[in-house]
Amino acid sequence: MSALTLTDVRRCFASTVAVDGVSLELGAHELLALVGPSGCGKSTLLRLVAGLHHVDSGSISIAGTVVDDGRVAVAPERRQVGLVFQEHALFPHLTVAKNVAFGLRKMTPAATRARVTESLELVGLAAHAGRYPHELSGGERQRVALARALAPRPALMLLDEPFASLDPNLRSQIRADVVDILHAEGTPGVFVTHDQAEALAVGDRIAVMRAGAVEQLATPEAVFHTPANRFVAAFMGEASFLDNTDLAALGAAPLDAATAMLRPDDITFVERPDGAAEVVHAEFRGSVWCYTLRLPSGTTVRSTRSHLRNTAVGARVTPELVPGHVPVPISS
Ligand code: ADP
Repeated sequence: MSALTLTDVRRCFASTVAVDGVSLELGAHELLALVGPSGCGKSTLLRLVAGLHHVDSGSISIAGTVVDDGRVAVAPERRQVGLVFQEHALFPHLTVAKNVAFGLRKMTPAATRARVTESLELVGLAAHAGRYPHELSGGERQRVALARALAPRPALMLLDEPFASLDPNLRSQIRADVVDILHAEGTPGVFVTHDQAEALAVGDRIAVMRAGAVEQLATPEAVFHTPANRFVAAFMGEASFLDNTDLAALGAAPLDAATAMLRPDDITFVERPDGAAEVVHAEFRGSVWCYTLRLPSGTTVRSTRSHLRNTAVGARVTPELVPGHVPVPISS
């Protein structure tokens, strides 16, 4: 059974169409990353699933039960969803254990204690059960929020920019932990993020949204390497868009499509005094240098190479495809 089914979901705010006919289905244990630029409707879609907004038309089912179709509207607390938001919203006056117990009110005291302990062990915070939120780091607070959301064994987790307030190093660690915990529990989830690298890291599949609609719903590899259109190509990573003349300058065969996409790691070059291209910019990124090359047509492309291979701006070069890499046809 699918964890979540959206059928032609639409929601407007006055004249703004925030969600414009979204249909998708989430597998029983699947993590979906909803990604797109600010204002594209990600949070509205998540809030519709949570029951914090209602659909104008279309329908939403969670674990096979219709929760909103314009007639039925199941209350948020009866949808069996766990919510984790950017601001973790722990109760400051309650201990970690009491925060986690909060959603377990229907259980006996003994069963509640056992589930609280189990949930805190899951997120590696059993030793902190008696602390108050202000006695925890930001990352620990976020793990408590996750434990609290997981404790009632939700049918679906909804996470809205859950790592946005954490600093970058901590963020990638917590992100990996959260994904591992959800996978270990077999709990399906929808992550909202505006960050494409985060979407690639957390999603079993990714839904790329623009202006209320899903532009592509596919695996991380597919949205990155075979994007559905130019918007997805550019949003999901650095992209150079080339016509057949430019492809020829890279020694690549022409394509039927008007436009081809290459990522910086697809393009390399050799320095030659008679090279037809020129290095016009070099950016050090730690593990790689990212070069901007101007092709004979004037088109510029990006090329990343090992940090050990430093080429000066102004050098003449012959660009080429990295062996095994191919240009991807792109529709507009
Ligand atoms: P995202 O999460 O992708 O940044 P949102 O879902 O928050 O996008 O917003 C989608 C669109 O709907 C935006 O144009 C936003 O201004 C509008 N919107 C969202 N919530 C409301 C609201 N409660 N009232 C009016 N407009 C809203």
